[in-house]
Amino acid sequence: MHTALLTSLRQLCGDSHVLTQDLAAFEADWRKRGRGKALAVVRPGSTAEVAAVVKACVAAGVSLVPQGGNTGLVMGSTPDESGRQIVLSLQRLRAVRAIDPANLTLTAEAGCVLQSLQDAAREAGFLFPLSLAAEGSCTIGGNLATNAGGTQVLRYGNARELCLGLEVVTAQGEIWQGLSGLRKDNTGYDLRDLFIGSEGTLGIITAATLKLYPLPAARLTAWAAVPSMAHAVELLGLAHRHLGAGLTGFEVMGQFALRLVAKHFSQQRVPFYESTPFCVLLENSDHESEAHAREQFERLLEAALEAGCVSDAVVAENLTQARQLWHLRESIPMAQAEEGLNIKHDVSIPVSQIPAFVASTDALLQREIPGVRLVNFGHLGDGNLHYNVQAPADGDAAEFLATHEERVNNLVYESVTQYRGSISAEHGVGSMKVAKLEALKSPVEMHMMRAIKAALDPLNLMNPGRVLRA
Ligand code: FAD
Ligand code: ZN
Repeated sequence: MHTALLTSLRQLCGDSHVLTQDLAAFEADWRKRGRGKALAVVRPGSTAEVAAVVKACVAAGVSLVPQGGNTGLVMGSTPDESGRQIVLSLQRLRAVRAIDPANLTLTAEAGCVLQSLQDAAREAGFLFPLSLAAEGSCTIGGNLATNAGGTQVLRYGNARELCLGLEVVTAQGEIWQGLSGLRKDNTGYDLRDLFIGSEGTLGIITAATLKLYPLPAARLTAWAAVPSMAHAVELLGLAHRHLGAGLTGFEVMGQFALRLVAKHFSQQRVPFYESTPFCVLLENSDHESEAHAREQFERLLEAALEAGCVSDAVVAENLTQARQLWHLRESIPMAQAEEGLNIKHDVSIPVSQIPAFVASTDALLQREIPGVRLVNFGHLGDGNLHYNVQAPADGDAAEFLATHEERVNNLVYESVTQYRGSISAEHGVGSMKVAKLEALKSPVEMHMMRAIKAALDPLNLMNPGRVLRA
């Protein structure tokens, strides 16, 4: 089936870049929640080749699933089970095309791994601030397609705020050259913002012009024990006041989340977690000096101890210690995976409402589904919690998910709605949250979204069934 299409894809990209065997790495999602089946994985080597691949697929009526690092958490980057979809991997588009120091921009291709972009920026004397635990394998194209957040959003915004221009291959296989480095451009509808966060359903991002920032003179990290989520919010207020724009990270971690890290990565030392319900990781980026940053941190922590919103705290002595503290935070998703299958929620709630949300949702779940274990952590500074649910300790996790996942999701999302939050702060909709999106968005919103999809991808060949029902 589709032999003619495969032949023309081989002519376009070269035999070795049209794969039909050993596709597990492209067909299974990071969380191992499911495995699809692709007709083939195609790896074009340039924007022109991406455009030609799309045209060939359109002519054959075959749909495409764009894929970057395949680290997405909502089943958006893997094919369905039909065996009739092409996975379009952007892996080979990984050139940094230009750095413009005066304009503070970097232009790079979609398949660049995030960490390599951070490195390229640093080598040029700048900061590219987007940062997340998957940065060693996720790509900038995937980051923009999901409007990724991460740990620096508090100061620098999410992927959308870091992007000035895009190059996109449309669903018709045309190339839109929108790589402007302009900070101001009010000429009609913002097409760039339409593609950012569209999860591959409107077109394929092939390159982006991104914002750079001056490298801070010093970046200091602190770890604090806090007596409750309400105290964590109080500490956030104090940190804003003391550090101003220097506050570049504020992550909260619940005791059970840290206990999982201590259990599964016993070589890592986790400060304070045994004696406190929550720990907070703070980062202060300073443009003056390390001594100044340290002084500011010490004043903040003194005030916090005095106010009773911190019971214990350490400031990392050096870069190695700082990395170890960040590594603890970043190990939580892996520790959860080691503990077994789990149910993830990536929600945002107004910061002021988070203590009440956590208290009432914890109580609700524990009442309705006895024995559930709640893994609570996230980017508190952005009002974004990864509010995850692990099966009871002595049960079969797969069975627990089969029986309870839908109910758990309904309870959590009802609570999120009550607190006027969002069911996806950063991971997106993929195929996992399509029905929930329909249930929660207003008819007016759904109508506008469907109209945009129909206008840009009338044949529904771009990642069908993701974000919107096929
Ligand atoms: P993929 O997983 O390959 O694709 C994701 C989606 O984007 C899919 O719908 C795909 O079709 C589409 N897509 C990919 N490339 C393109 C392209 N070039 N053009 C059009 N569409 C495309 N996310 C956060 O936001 N914040 C976090 O803090 C965070 N932490 C994470 C930690 C871990 C350990 C892991 C595994 C994931 C984490 N994620 C986080 C989720 C994930 O890393 C991000 O969604 C990331 O942006 C995905 O990039 P990717 O290249 O892997 O994209
Ligand atoms: Zn996150």
